[in-house]
Amino acid sequence: MSSQAWINLAYLAAAMLFIVAFKMMSSPRTAVRGTFLGAAGMAIAIIAACFEAPIAQSVASRGAWPLLMLAAAAVLGGGVGATMALRYPMTSMPQMVALLNGFGGAASVLVAGAELSGTCNLAFCDADPRAATAAASLLPWTQFSIATALTGLIGAVTFWGSLVAFGKLEELPQFKKAWTDPRRHWINLALVALTLLLTWGFCTNPDYTILFWLLVVVGSALGVTLTLPIGGADMPVVICLLNSYSGLAAAAAGFVIDNSVLVIAGSLVGASGLILTAIMCQAMNRSLVGVLFGGLGTTAAVSGDDVYAGKVKSAGAEEIAMVLEGADKVVIVPGYGLAVAQAQHAVRELADALEARGAKVEYAIHPVAGRMPGHMNVLLAEADVPYEKLREMDDINPEFAETDVAIVIGANDVVNPAARTDPSSPIAGMPILDVDRARTVVVVKRSLSPGFAGIPNPLFAADNTLMYFADGKKAILDLVAALK
Ligand code: NDP
Repeated sequence: MSSQAWINLAYLAAAMLFIVAFKMMSSPRTAVRGTFLGAAGMAIAIIAACFEAPIAQSVASRGAWPLLMLAAAAVLGGGVGATMALRYPMTSMPQMVALLNGFGGAASVLVAGAELSGTCNLAFCDADPRAATAAASLLPWTQFSIATALTGLIGAVTFWGSLVAFGKLEELPQFKKAWTDPRRHWINLALVALTLLLTWGFCTNPDYTILFWLLVVVGSALGVTLTLPIGGADMPVVICLLNSYSGLAAAAAGFVIDNSVLVIAGSLVGASGLILTAIMCQAMNRSLVGVLFGGLGTTAAVSGDDVYAGKVKSAGAEEIAMVLEGADKVVIVPGYGLAVAQAQHAVRELADALEARGAKVEYAIHPVAGRMPGHMNVLLAEADVPYEKLREMDDINPEFAETDVAIVIGANDVVNPAARTDPSSPIAGMPILDVDRARTVVVVKRSLSPGFAGIPNPLFAADNTLMYFADGKKAILDLVAALK
């Protein structure tokens, strides 16, 4: 068998590992093993790529030097990735995912840019036997020119869009307020028109490398202007979409360098990101066009004082324990604050104490509770909460009316009834957990501060709500002690 056949076989094995890994990642029980399989697939793909003809030729002419450079880059990149993964807390995962998406986009742009300049140099070199092939790549509208233009455009949008998303998720002051200038639609339209013009210009004249870099610059501006207006609760959709873009950029880069495993891996990421985006849009009752161009989810000017003044009732552990003593059905609603407080084990203790008294305890999971899809499932699985006790939003919502006590721990936007009742609210139409329909609602949080969407929550001022102002973990441990 030729060496290229071995390389293709390794790529096939890597692609199969990616597909099995994706399947395993869809269940919390197998997700960790799935991640390792995916990493193994990537290692096989990288090693096989080192035997590709351009690298082999480079090694033949320059010795081990190119391989050393590759190893140094892998160690450096792997080191930065591992340090970030270890340092970032679970609650900051979306920021990290945003950065990783962005780096993926930037890497694709650099690969396409490097390949373009290499091909151009070769095409104009009479002495090199590969010059004819390179010149053929630079003919108008070839796979090479189209893929290079798409990589430059999608990669640049992904990189800059992801940096803005990072700033928003990190709640940096410069990005806190969504950009709502009505002229933004015209600016976006002009930038889109410019990218189309440059793509056409580059595809018809691929040896004009300047057109490629101009496309990258305009794509970068588009990445910023498309992401800046999106605010508040719509960020999960944007993160999924940027994830998909990073895959598409990688797939296009795969066509640029004719590497099948990059095309497959990129397509898998692109397709899964798109599916996740559709699921997120559905879960939040948003249209993708609405999220991208409507400027939905922008911060409203409603003041908390109007909503809360004189209506909030607060209680302590002893008082709430008394309410819980008479409860037959209790639903626990976890949110972002539960993750911040790391209260998952305390919550499990509370559920055990309530069940020991004969109450039925379940958990209501909102699809965007926390800061990443599946955040609450992961957190509760850490505390060995049985999976069958986790109930999805649509499934549990009709049961709140028969629930004695709903305990909301560190959740805010996902239980905000304004989504149902106030059409002018930035989260209007987003499905929420209907905890306000329970007989008594206990909300555990530290203050009346808003959640990620930055809006007040009328639930905190409702007649059947008791606010328990404390850190999530301490509050629940005190409650368990009071119950005992
Ligand atoms: P929110 O962000 O709406 O609210 C979290 C609440 O937790 C805050 O009001 C805060 O109040 C409280 N909190 C913070 N720290 C603690 C603590 N130590 N102890 C107790 N409470 C604490 O969370 P939700 O889960 O309700 O909603 C998620 C939001 O994040 C949605 O808007 C969603 O769109 C968005 N989002 C979701 C993503 C996803 O994929 N899941 C990704 C990106 C964004 P206080 O400070 O008063 O304690």
